[in-house]
Amino acid sequence: MRITCPLCGERDRREFTYRGAALDAPAADDSAETWHSHVHLRQNPAGPLEEWWHHQQGCGSWIRVRRDTVSHVMLASALAKPEDADGGSA
Ligand SMILES: [Zn+2]
Repeated sequence: MRITCPLCGERDRREFTYRGAALDAPAADDSAETWHSHVHLRQNPAGPLEEWWHHQQGCGSWIRVRRDTVSHVMLASALAKPEDADGGSA
């Protein structure tokens, strides 16, 4: 599988570390049940999914990737924004 880093270009997947689905975090005052679902439960959809990848063996950037989980085709990639670090919407 190949992943396109916005800074380095297309690279082998082994240069990256997978963090998981790029989900918007609940508000700080949301219920414990909402937080439990956010942290522990996943939908595992078949098809396009927004994900976080870290270019660990390259430039060190965090990248938001839109990937088809069935075909593994990379549909889009962009550098993470500072507001992404605290779960803000992107
Ligand atoms: Zn890179």
